[in-house]
Amino acid sequence: MKSAGFTYHRPSTVDGALALLAEHGDEAKILAGGQSLLPMMGLRLARPTHLVDINGLDADLDFIAAGPDGLRIGALVRHANAEHHPAVAEHGPMIAAALPLVGHRPIRTRGTVVGSIAHGDPAAEMPAVCVATDATLVARSAAGTRELPAATFFEGYLGTGLRDDELLAEVRFPAWAPTSGGAVVEIARRHGDYALVGLACRVDVLDGIIDDAALVFLGVGGTPVRVTAAEDSLRGQAPSEALFAEAGRIVSTTLDAGSDLHASAAYRRHIAGVLTNQGLAEATSRIGVTA
Ligand code: FAD
Repeated sequence: MKSAGFTYHRPSTVDGALALLAEHGDEAKILAGGQSLLPMMGLRLARPTHLVDINGLDADLDFIAAGPDGLRIGALVRHANAEHHPAVAEHGPMIAAALPLVGHRPIRTRGTVVGSIAHGDPAAEMPAVCVATDATLVARSAAGTRELPAATFFEGYLGTGLRDDELLAEVRFPAWAPTSGGAVVEIARRHGDYALVGLACRVDVLDGIIDDAALVFLGVGGTPVRVTAAEDSLRGQAPSEALFAEAGRIVSTTLDAGSDLHASAAYRRHIAGVLTNQGLAEATSRIGVTA
């Protein structure tokens, strides 16, 4: 199919892009990598009348920066560039673990990390990683800049806290502690497909005891889904196979998962429990802790 007609804009400054968004509001869409937007336009599931192409704004938006405060990834960083960047490997191990699972290489070569977050697909890896790592989303508009916590950013299926006049300029991940282990595990029909169920998992272990844990599932509901009861069961405990199995049991009995033509809710809950065990074992082994 062909997309509906639209006016194409290619601003040469960020301020120019923000002015276009302010002028056209909900009739405008930002074009980043186009890996989700263009298929949706082709199917007429999206019909923006103004397309604001930000691909000319590399000088301001194509950056990866690491420092004592953490890791920053700008709006024009492609998945593939982040995947192979030494700063991401060193300061964002969960991001590095998630990126090879995002679609196929040609998609990662064009699609952007921040575009994936702005799109807010609940089956995508990066939104779940943002929630599991307590990332901050930096939104810019002609009216100013807002910092939005990932914990509340994803509001529903393809729905986020971004306003129509805002550009998601960057994502900031807090500094990764050496006591933190992370893993991203998932089940997909074929490598590169969206996951039927996935888990972004972070465990902080201090002196042999789990100090904090995040278990954030993708592909199970309208947003990334955190299972706090299972996280609570881990805190204050020494890592062990029995502890991880119990966390998996809690997940598979309490997770609010949906059914669709790809998988039933019961299947998703079962797989989520299995992934909990696997994710916790992987995350702890990455910091030299054996359960
Ligand atoms: P675009 O397609 O350009 O934009 C997507 C949406 O986000 C649009 O509404 C756009 O207006 C908005 N947007 C983009 N950037 C910004 C910004 N900076 N500020 C505000 N709004 C913005 N993704 C996964 O995570 N996992 C997968 O397994 C996966 N499999 C895929 C398989 C296929 C066959 C395809 C085609 C895509 C797949 N994707 C997958 C999607 C891919 O990762 C996209 O790159 C990503 O979803 C969107 O990034 P983009 O830069 O292409 O955004």
